[in-house]
Amino acid sequence: MLLHNRAVFALGLRMCSTHVKRGPSMDTKRQSSDMSDFREIFSKAKHIAIITGAGVSAESGIPTFRGEHEKWRKWQSQDLATPEAFSRTPSRVWEFYHYRRELALNKKPNAAHLAIAECEARLRKQGRSVVIITQCIDDLHRQAGSKHVLKIHGSLMETRCVSCGDVTVNKRSPICAALKDKGAPGPDVADAQIPVDKLPRCDEIDCHGLLRPNVVFFGETLDSHILTKVEKEMETCDLCLVVGTSAIVYPAAMFGPQIASRGVPVAEFNTNTTPKSEYFTHRFQGPCGTTLPLALARHESEII
Ligand SMILES: [Zn+2]
Repeated sequence: MLLHNRAVFALGLRMCSTHVKRGPSMDTKRQSSDMSDFREIFSKAKHIAIITGAGVSAESGIPTFRGEHEKWRKWQSQDLATPEAFSRTPSRVWEFYHYRRELALNKKPNAAHLAIAECEARLRKQGRSVVIITQCIDDLHRQAGSKHVLKIHGSLMETRCVSCGDVTVNKRSPICAALKDKGAPGPDVADAQIPVDKLPRCDEIDCHGLLRPNVVFFGETLDSHILTKVEKEMETCDLCLVVGTSAIVYPAAMFGPQIASRGVPVAEFNTNTTPKSEYFTHRFQGPCGTTLPLALARHESEII
């Protein structure tokens, strides 16, 4: 098992590096930005894991609210996406997620999402597999047509009842009458202070519990069923792409380095260098909507 003691892997931000052994390929070969070299490896790979992060969604216009200049009112994600914030100010946290839901409902997959989905469909016909392990909570990979998606941080378009635990897909806009036209992000906008009984509530008979977004808040552990699937993919993949992730949100930040430590080629696609770049065999700098379509296009050796 790759993710030892995974129960302790609560979602969090950490700047320190993990202690992952570098793979044998890094001992003998320098990191490459040679696309034809990557393409040669890609053409032979049977099980490809693509780890995606906020950078992919950002190219569709979806903010993450993690940077100093990317605030919702006075706050960043890590101030509002916590169990404590939700229990203290459920109205404010719901306004924040309502805003994010409405934004995501109006965005479209970009060239990176489409290249990944097209690659998955094409390779499936050849008996090869592509899995997307995503930190994104929007629905853009599925909208692009990707089928094999593991959403490790949950989904903006699902709710979970805090009383009965029922999880439901919910794309209603607005999600409830009281949130209509609420959630404006400006720094001077006052809280709507919606009474808790007017926030989204459970439809189950005799429950009517408060709903929350079915996303993993900072400080919460990831879904163990999804982590089991992620572990299996990490153990069997023979090529990994790490796309648009800042590599500072754990535990996902260590997935790429863990795979690289098995000697599997791992290629990073990002606009910037990240704290984990040094672990990878390949690195392609630039918008992933530009680099991924080149990387994942049909190779001349593909006959179907
Ligand atoms: Zn319920």
